[in-house]
Amino acid sequence: MAAEFSIHVAKENLKFSAAHFIAYPGFREPLHGHNYQVGVRVEGRLTATGYVLDFGIVKQATREIVAQLDERTLIPAQSDCLTIERRGNSIAIRYEGDEFVLPAADVCLLPIAHSSAEELARYVWGQLYAALANHQALTGIIAMEVSVAEGPGQAAIYRRDVSQNPS
Ligand code: ZN
Repeated sequence: MAAEFSIHVAKENLKFSAAHFIAYPGFREPLHGHNYQVGVRVEGRLTATGYVLDFGIVKQATREIVAQLDERTLIPAQSDCLTIERRGNSIAIRYEGDEFVLPAADVCLLPIAHSSAEELARYVWGQLYAALANHQALTGIIAMEVSVAEGPGQAAIYRRDVSQNPS
């Protein structure tokens, strides 16, 4: 079924600043940071309330997800080349001969393999889907798209149909 409406959320408060590095066997970027911008587009049918969905819930849920990433070092816990070890209040991250040791509170361990904008967009999508499901706010939603930009004009977009579509 084709979507009839879409809403788009991309606001100042959907920004986060974070440090990361891309790593795979044989290559690692130096640790560096971005001012990321998150955008969300939801496609859906008009519900009985006259909305595709509650705008406020999408904004609130996205803000909460973004807040968990803000001012953290993003570490992909499913990396095939990083060894991640908890040491008291610290997290030690080893890559080949290099080691980072950071305060655990400064680190956000994510269930992804690389901290690329693409994988971050898919992660945010999953978190947002779970949050909306939790608020029983998926009714009428046909698809969701999450974009994560590392800077102006460099956005990765993850879009997926939302299977749960009670009429
Ligand atoms: Zn980067």
